[in-house]
Amino acid sequence: MRPNMFNNNIQRPPSTTKDKMPSQGLSNYPLLLNKAQSTPSQDIKSNYIYSSNTTFAPNTQSQQSRFIEQNTQKQNPSQFNQQLSQQSLAISQQNTQKTVTTNYSMSQSQPEQYQYKSMQNVSKGICGLRNIGNTCFMNSVLQCLLNIPAFNEHFLNGDYLKDLNSKNSSVPNEYSKLVATIRNTPNFQSIAPYGIKSAVENVMPCFRGYAQQDAQEFLVALLDGLSLGLNRVKNKSSYKEMNDNLNGRTLQDLSKEWWDYSKSRENSLVLDYFQGQLLHTIKCSICGSSSYAFDTFQDTSLAIARAFKILEDMNLERLLDKYVIEEAIDDYYCSKCKKHQKVKRKFTIWRLPHILMFHIKRFEFRRFSSDKLNHRVIFPLELDMREFVKDSLDQSVKNCQYFLCGIVNHSGTLYGGHYTADSKNPFNQKWYRYNDSDVREIDIKQQRYDTDGSSSPYILFYARKSLY
Ligand SMILES: [Zn+2]
Repeated sequence: MRPNMFNNNIQRPPSTTKDKMPSQGLSNYPLLLNKAQSTPSQDIKSNYIYSSNTTFAPNTQSQQSRFIEQNTQKQNPSQFNQQLSQQSLAISQQNTQKTVTTNYSMSQSQPEQYQYKSMQNVSKGICGLRNIGNTCFMNSVLQCLLNIPAFNEHFLNGDYLKDLNSKNSSVPNEYSKLVATIRNTPNFQSIAPYGIKSAVENVMPCFRGYAQQDAQEFLVALLDGLSLGLNRVKNKSSYKEMNDNLNGRTLQDLSKEWWDYSKSRENSLVLDYFQGQLLHTIKCSICGSSSYAFDTFQDTSLAIARAFKILEDMNLERLLDKYVIEEAIDDYYCSKCKKHQKVKRKFTIWRLPHILMFHIKRFEFRRFSSDKLNHRVIFPLELDMREFVKDSLDQSVKNCQYFLCGIVNHSGTLYGGHYTADSKNPFNQKWYRYNDSDVREIDIKQQRYDTDGSSSPYILFYARKSLY
């Protein structure tokens, strides 16, 4: 058997798993010493769905618990989160014995203004999520989102409320509560994410119940739910056919026209971070005319089957090469020739989002045999996208530099398996493996992303360097 991360002899912090955590053995955590005061009351538990029922409130947080108790019902989430955020920051500062300079102003539209670099001594937000019935698919996706730099601050400081639609508010509000709870739970504890599960289920009933689900489908549903609830467009423009030829204009002009139209129908905080634009070019091999479509995208699905032979190692850059390569199609309707012709089709990544998500299509569904494609994965910790956005809008060096910030792993087979997440904490820049309620620090450079072990990358998250 090939080594997996559990065989690595690296120093790990104590696990969060309840059965592995001796009930009295919390002396490593000075924050948790005052147990008599720290037990959360039943009121908090019932009012606050995410409250950890292990050891939520240590010394400094006992005040906070009382605060939560007294205020959850009176306050709107904004006030609630602001208070939590300030207290959380205060606690972190006490922990590290350092004064941390942060700028949590209230009107963040530019993610770049977060200064995570100045917070490298701050350790917070390292919290497990309990498995509440085959929910590892959800937990692993949430752990990657919760560690995305800058994005979560909008939920913590109440900034998201200015766009909140009262009709579809439950997913954003529950996500906001989750962010606040995670940030205020002592590191290496765990909480039960019931609230966000039921909010997503209400929008997407296919996630009801306790069956194992696909993590990528959950990711899409969650982001859709957030975006719907935070859509700034109150009166959608009506559907219109977009121009697919230049008519003397530049590609830049055309891309803007498509982008503006898309934004006139849906425009949200989620799309600010996750939406990019893809150029789809079709060139007729007979008359030479080209047509252009600029579609928006959030996650990019990269097919292994098309790109690699069985047993060949997989490399992210090669998958991207294949994604943007020109391909011939035999039978495509050319509007100029007015008949089906041979054409060449090409995808170009035109506008890069702050967060790039790559979905490695490991599950192949065929008529007679469906299977999981087991390929070893090679992917960079730092990704330079310049090579893949040639001819497009976003060619500045700054805009093309990304850090890997999260990995959803799938282990097992198509018919049964388990999801975990590896995620980089935006504050201390350390990597952790989240296996439901269990959290361990890992050395990302020493991980082997095999497919027969515990870690088989399924979704990769890259964050623009300027977000840190
Ligand atoms: Zn033609």
